[in-house]
Amino acid sequence: MGSPWSELLANLAVVAMFVSVWIHTHVWLDRKAALTRATAFGMLMGAGAVILMLTPMQLQPGLFVDLRGTMIALAGFFGGPVACVIAGLAAVAFRFHEGGVGVFAGAMGISIATAIGIAGHVALRGRAPGRVDILILAATAAASSLLGLLALPQEIMQAVLPQVALPTSLLIFLSIMLSGLALYQERRRIEALQSRRIYKAVVEALPDCLNVKDLEGRFIAANPATATLMRAADAKALIGKTDFDFFPQETARKFHEDESAILAAGVPSTIEQRLHHEDGPDGWLSTLKAPFRDQSGTIVGLITHNRDITTRRRLEDELAESRVRLADALTHMADGLVMFDGDGKLVLSNTQYIAMFPQTADIRLPGADYRDILRISATRGEQAVPPDRIEDWIGGIAASRKLPSNRQEIRLSDGRWLDVRTRPTSNGGSLSVYSDITEAKLVEAELLAANEKLNLLANRDGLTELLTRRAFDEALAREYARGKRSMAPLSLLIIDVDWFKRFNDHYGHPAGDECLRAVSGCIKATARRPADAAARYGGEEFALILPETDARGAFVIAENLRGKVRDLRLAHAGSEKGIVTVSIGVGTFGPGAPIEIADLLRRADEALYGAKAAGRDRVHGWRPHVSEPLATGARRRP
Ligand code: GH3
Ligand code: MG
Ligand code: MG
Repeated sequence: MGSPWSELLANLAVVAMFVSVWIHTHVWLDRKAALTRATAFGMLMGAGAVILMLTPMQLQPGLFVDLRGTMIALAGFFGGPVACVIAGLAAVAFRFHEGGVGVFAGAMGISIATAIGIAGHVALRGRAPGRVDILILAATAAASSLLGLLALPQEIMQAVLPQVALPTSLLIFLSIMLSGLALYQERRRIEALQSRRIYKAVVEALPDCLNVKDLEGRFIAANPATATLMRAADAKALIGKTDFDFFPQETARKFHEDESAILAAGVPSTIEQRLHHEDGPDGWLSTLKAPFRDQSGTIVGLITHNRDITTRRRLEDELAESRVRLADALTHMADGLVMFDGDGKLVLSNTQYIAMFPQTADIRLPGADYRDILRISATRGEQAVPPDRIEDWIGGIAASRKLPSNRQEIRLSDGRWLDVRTRPTSNGGSLSVYSDITEAKLVEAELLAANEKLNLLANRDGLTELLTRRAFDEALAREYARGKRSMAPLSLLIIDVDWFKRFNDHYGHPAGDECLRAVSGCIKATARRPADAAARYGGEEFALILPETDARGAFVIAENLRGKVRDLRLAHAGSEKGIVTVSIGVGTFGPGAPIEIADLLRRADEALYGAKAAGRDRVHGWRPHVSEPLATGARRRP
């Protein structure tokens, strides 16, 4: 053996060797269970400790100083309790096998190293040790190595302590620092390797193209997606090649220009590039290009990430095209169209819709709320809505928007009519189609008027414009049924012009017609209630239906009519009165006397006959004791 220093240095070399063996071999154990790895590490470190103990610095027979503690502490610190205990046991076993005076001090030193290694490991609480942790471990181990020496017999300790204590703790400190840092670096290297593997896997699996080119545009790295895009066999086939080797000249030149611009600017940029292959349809790429710098910050290439957006571009093109088609259709349709979203905001309208509302065209814009549009339309007088009813009106329209189908006709203040058909849309909004139906409305009004006229012609007597006999029959049946239902009385007047044959004979038929018209005028003036119905019953006879009128009331009305005719003061040479007069028979049906229609007619007729018989120019009601004999003997009508 040489000097103690060279022996200790040899110890240091052994430590380094065993650490190095672990660094070079542990990769094989990476896939094994944690316990297997810990056992292997413990055994290796234990073997190291034993070898160290075989090459110790012997101070006196039986007193050895070596770096076994380093191996044991490292086993515990990096490998955990299992590795530490295995290494410690191996060292203790060997120490006992060696024997000598320092055996207990040696065992104690090993125990202390074991305790420090495990304590250090526990203190890390599962995290990977850093450089400071290693420093603390080294310092602790160096300090505690002195404790081992204190366990030596007093006289030996005093003899060796001054010369051994410092170099031993210094070497333990150094050996743990160096080995610990080597193991630390190895862990970092493995981690870096792992993350590189992850990055590589991600880049390889990435469906987007990722590649790096040098300043001349040559590929220096590329992922498989890039190779697929370039139609190269694989990513390796791209290395050293440029775009000119894969794309048509024109495309490659355009790409090169884009790249040169980004290299010149020196900042990342995203662009859209058209992709053209000689033998296929064109495509589109969304490309991010970023300058690639070396450690000094100098630009040495270009990183490119691009994504195939051909499908997106095609969809965008199709969308734009269908938008144009829709706009075209909207512009050329005859109707106005407007769409509101679920919140009631205008999202779409055509020019016809705007043109239909000239007074509010300025507010019917995208984003406008339909309630505001309605409110302003009403306040500007575009649609006639009473000011205090505007909010109710808007509420009604809001409710109708939710109906599955809704059709309305609205009249604008300027006289135009609009037909509005509204349907809810799938997104909770509504779609309305407006048609100008003013012309149709005019035609409809004309038709209604014509219909009215036709009705009039069919139901009105041509000379007097009173109801015809047929219409009278219908009106009487209707009022009779109504009266019966509501238990209301119903009266009927039958009016006959006195001595009318003589009038005709004296004044001529046309004058007779004039006279009849004048009398009918009086009847119309008498029948003032809406339900009153006056009819030309036949020849110079008239009838007046008076619903909800009892005998007394009917009598008053009849007298009134008789007076009106007299007041005409139409000369009648054939009458002893000298003027045109009428006789009126009154028939009444009341709740107390439910009689048939025919009876009512008969009674009025009989009463009229009574009036004629009594001298004309008078009103007679029906009285049983008077009319009954007449009814059998002298009925004038079936
Ligand atoms: P009385 O007082 O009893 O009713 O006598 P009258 O002459 O009025 O009765 P009558 O029934 O005998 O005569 C009715 C006349 O009314 C006969 C007919 O020439 C006339 N007359 C009926 N319809 C028309 C008409 O549309 N125009 C004119 N000018 N005369 C008519
Ligand atoms: Mg008559
Ligand atoms: Mg008459």
